[in-house]
Amino acid sequence: MKNKYVTFSKNIFIPITNVCRNACDYCVYRARSPEDAYIVRVNQFLALLNTKLEATEALFTAGEKPELVNPEFAKWLHKVTGCSTLVEYTKELCKLAIGHGLLPHCNLGVLSTEDMKQLRDVNASMGLMLETTAELEAHKNSPGKAPEERLKMIAEAGQLKIPFTTGLLIGIGETPEDRIHSLEAIKSLHAKYGHIQEVIIQPFVPKPFTAMEKQESPSFDEFKAVLRIARQILPAEIVIQVPPNLTAPRELIELGASDLGGISEKTIDYINPESPWPREAELRKIVAPFVLWERLPIYPRFIRKGWYSDEIRPLIERYAGEDGLRRL
Ligand code: SF4
Repeated sequence: MKNKYVTFSKNIFIPITNVCRNACDYCVYRARSPEDAYIVRVNQFLALLNTKLEATEALFTAGEKPELVNPEFAKWLHKVTGCSTLVEYTKELCKLAIGHGLLPHCNLGVLSTEDMKQLRDVNASMGLMLETTAELEAHKNSPGKAPEERLKMIAEAGQLKIPFTTGLLIGIGETPEDRIHSLEAIKSLHAKYGHIQEVIIQPFVPKPFTAMEKQESPSFDEFKAVLRIARQILPAEIVIQVPPNLTAPRELIELGASDLGGISEKTIDYINPESPWPREAELRKIVAPFVLWERLPIYPRFIRKGWYSDEIRPLIERYAGEDGLRRL
């Protein structure tokens, strides 16, 4: 990794469906009613792919296990996509993305080993926010937020040698001790499998019309304290990422954050739709005197180790320089 460099990725953000089996108290992403539900169609995706894209990453998100919460979902999915499961459909979208020069990164919530095996070869990396290892009120209606479910998936991704992104959501009712416990859990999974490429430290931001709309975000001092602890606990090879549309990153970089995640010129942050990403030129000014440098959704360490498939090899060879970051 280049010294004194802060990295970011240029992506397009594709929220495949907002149907989710969970109902987290802070979420504005999931469909609240059948009328709100959507599935992104192939022609919509192609229309986006056929615009002039500067991106190298296709970030796919979806609600978790929609087939479980909505028995009609599988029928609807089949009718509009011809696929029987969300994972099968996601794989099709990933192949289209690769054909258009984009490296996929999927975060579909908790997946089984079989699901990950299906998606592994068409993804440069995958992700799942751990959020916390604590049992919280905010997750009382979210079976998929059971910490053991999420730790299990992160471990299984390690067994499959999938470069992996995870993270903590700060300010959803967890204590400072819970944060340490969560970071230690990530550290110990990484010690076993070596597959964690980055840990996102993300502040909770209240959203209107949610159960937590009146709860405040963590203060900046509290957030900085988490950054310090995270940098102390996590090994240096795990990059700490902070989202530049939800934080003031300059001071956080001084404390050890060195990645700003994906930003998109063409799509919005569907998880935090009220918070636009800064433009690249703005980010360059924000991080100075550090130098902003684009990376791929697979970190250089995993390119060197060859943790990628033949399907995405041509794109990695096209985009990665000798140091594994984006070639100029
Ligand atoms: S799992 Fe994600 S999409 Fe589903 S309700 Fe929770 S925050 Fe929303």
